[in-house]
Amino acid sequence: MPAMIAVYPGSFDPVTRGHIDIIERALRLFDRVIVAVSNNYAKKHLFTVQERVGMIRESVSGLDRAEVGSFSGLLVDYLKSKKARVVIRGLRVISDMDYEFQMAAMNRRLYRDVETVFLMPDEQHTYLSSSMVKEVARMGIAVKPFVTAPVEKALRSKFRAAAR
Ligand code: ADP
Repeated sequence: MPAMIAVYPGSFDPVTRGHIDIIERALRLFDRVIVAVSNNYAKKHLFTVQERVGMIRESVSGLDRAEVGSFSGLLVDYLKSKKARVVIRGLRVISDMDYEFQMAAMNRRLYRDVETVFLMPDEQHTYLSSSMVKEVARMGIAVKPFVTAPVEKALRSKFRAAAR
């Protein structure tokens, strides 16, 4: 049987412990998990794609079947290029579902073999989002419970630079 490859796409601006939880869960189900940072110019990001990829790489260095990449354009084209047909998305609360359902339906329309698998994080991560982490960091509050050490460091230097 060929290896089952799953792609976990997202903005990851920055990656949080909630994302890491989902990556670990996906690794229990699939042979390889490719975390794919989307290079979507329509959204305003704090970190560049390279910075986001670098922070994820450092954060998942202990997970040997996890890889990190980036893509611009359609997710389905990226999936095909990686010979993957599974998309992983995390669901925190029911209100996430509205948007996720539309995305999954669109991706299936564009590539009928694609399956989107939704995973629930541990309940301690339910209220965690990249935007919340950025707000907290901007206010100078410790982000250690929410992100890995490399991300904590990157946030600190980003906001220190901004305060200058
Ligand atoms: P996007 O802009 O694509 O939503 P995000 O980086 O915000 O990118 O999220 C990527 C995926 O991770 C989404 O499926 C999102 O629901 C999920 N996610 C984000 N934060 C968490 C969390 N704390 N727990 C579980 N899943 C999460």
